[in-house]
Amino acid sequence: MKKLHTDIVIVGGGIAGLWLLNSLSKQGFDVLLLEADSIGGGQSVRSQGIIHGGIKYALNGVLSQASDSIKDMPLRWKKCLTGDGELDLRGVTQLSDAHYLWSQRSLGAKITSFFAKKAMSGRVDSVATANYPAVFAHPEFKGNLYKLNEIVLDVPSLMAKLTEGYQSRILKIDTKHGSWTKNSDGNIETFTTAAQQLNISAQHFIFAAGEGNGQILEALNIERPKMQLRPLHMVMLTHETDLSIYAHCIGASSKPLATITHHLNADGSFTWYFGGDIAESGVERDSAAQIDKAQQLMAKILPWVTLKNPIWSTLRVNRAEPKQSGLTRPNAAFVHSEDNFSLCWPTKLALTPDLSDQVIASLAQRQITAKFKLTEQHLQNIGHPQVAATIWSKQ
Ligand SMILES: Cc1cc2nc3c(=O)[nH]c(=O)nc-3n(C[C@H](O)[C@H](O)[C@H](O)COP(=O)(O)OP(=O)(O)OC[C@H]3O[C@@H](n4cnc5c(N)ncnc54)[C@H](O)[C@@H]3O)c2cc1C
Repeated sequence: MKKLHTDIVIVGGGIAGLWLLNSLSKQGFDVLLLEADSIGGGQSVRSQGIIHGGIKYALNGVLSQASDSIKDMPLRWKKCLTGDGELDLRGVTQLSDAHYLWSQRSLGAKITSFFAKKAMSGRVDSVATANYPAVFAHPEFKGNLYKLNEIVLDVPSLMAKLTEGYQSRILKIDTKHGSWTKNSDGNIETFTTAAQQLNISAQHFIFAAGEGNGQILEALNIERPKMQLRPLHMVMLTHETDLSIYAHCIGASSKPLATITHHLNADGSFTWYFGGDIAESGVERDSAAQIDKAQQLMAKILPWVTLKNPIWSTLRVNRAEPKQSGLTRPNAAFVHSEDNFSLCWPTKLALTPDLSDQVIASLAQRQITAKFKLTEQHLQNIGHPQVAATIWSKQ
């Protein structure tokens, strides 16, 4: 049995775990990340990659708390992408420098004047007809179009970038297959995997395993906080097209009818990935009914788009979050620190920098300082996980 002593063990290699691996290593901590399957293969690579600034939470014409906590995120991410931020994300593929918002018909006066308000300046801009992206430059389009200060990232390239320089620190270990020990104070002492002949101890453990946090809480007999899962039934339309789209379509309700992002496949075709209300309300529908619904929606919201060789499919995926009353959406990144562990859910890819701030503050509050230094030799002969591909690129 090989014994590994380190400062921080992170469980889960999605956006939360990878960001923390980078930010805590930069703080001088010795960090190991344990990933059960593939890097980003949970929610992260299935996400739409939009670095939200919160406008979609303000469609009822009110700047809510959810909208407020996320408003600084686009700028933080943009700084990272140009090499001026807390992490160096230069080289990550940016799919779009903006996300758009369109309505089928003219928007009401309330929301138009709300978007024009000072508080929204820099977050929402109206777009002159001459500058419409090609997909909206059609005489049949009679609605309003706004440009949001929200970039869209290619998530597999983001995941790959966050592993750079840390490959030897990311170990392929599923903590489901192993056992945890605690000391008499209730602090977590070790994780042991007999199959991999490893015994790992740390000053602090961070659980960033998305949906997998549920099983970890059970294994460690941690009653609270609890996890909630909010399911989605996403739709994928793979087709040959010259039109790219990164946009929310808004209807009468305060939730986008659909949020569509555009992704290139290896064979030159593109996948339009549909989230928003169609994915939330579609969880009760089977795949065929969900595709039918999406086709009706397309005919209603983008009637001028002609599809060439379309292939429709769907994907079920859960959002894993801290439990809220009434299964509502949490407003901010979530970190709960207790004894020598922190439990994390970013709740949005975009909010991960905020999650990292909270973890760093909690370690500082606990006066945890760097103590250990594992070498490459200690980590020899332990397997490493691959970065996950998107679902559509595997079809
Ligand atoms: C369809 C969809 C679209 C979304 N779109 C957006 C968007 O456009 N913008 C945005 O900001 N947010 C978006 N989100 C939310 C965002 O994707 C998530 O908040 C974020 O990716 C969660 O990251 P995570 O690292 O917590 O979890 P995950 O990405 O799920 O990663 C958890 C990792 O832990 C690993 N793991 C699990 N159990 C164990 C274990 N026992 N041992 C070791 N490893 C384990 C898993 O294999 C996985 O790799 C979207 C979510 C979904 C579902």
